[in-house]
Amino acid sequence: MTQPDWYKEGLRFQCTECGKCCMGKSGFVWVSEEEAAAMAATLEISLPLFKRKYLRQRDNRYALVEKKISEDNYACIFLNDKKCLVYKARPTQCRTFPWWKENLTTEESWKLAANDCEGINDDAPLVPYSQIVQLTRMNTPVG
Ligand code: SF4
Ligand code: SF4
Repeated sequence: MTQPDWYKEGLRFQCTECGKCCMGKSGFVWVSEEEAAAMAATLEISLPLFKRKYLRQRDNRYALVEKKISEDNYACIFLNDKKCLVYKARPTQCRTFPWWKENLTTEESWKLAANDCEGINDDAPLVPYSQIVQLTRMNTPVG
């Protein structure tokens, strides 16, 4: 993929661990078989049990179960008091936020992402272009 030029100088971001990106409208955190196994190991449960309790299937893929908080407001099943219960083994989709292609298409899309992610702000440290490129390459398509 050709990387857009507009962030060649890097972008400012530092996660504040506010937990907001783990909640909101209903959506999908996609999980590979390897990621599911890593999360199961972190929780010290078997993979079949992990799949039964925490995964749902859609279009031949797995996604994490979400819990309904209120009308049109959901949270990831692993979000607990703003903390991720499987943080060390969290899926790539989580690890690479906010460096998703849709957030980096234009400067405008990055500014829009900042409305939902307080870690994107002018006081945050500069993340170099090379690191952004690396993170976007790790990313899983978001559905
Ligand atoms: S919304 Fe942004 S600052 Fe908050 S936890 Fe997610 S990545 Fe971190
Ligand atoms: S797995 Fe963890 S980081 Fe990913 S959405 Fe769920 S709570 Fe957030």
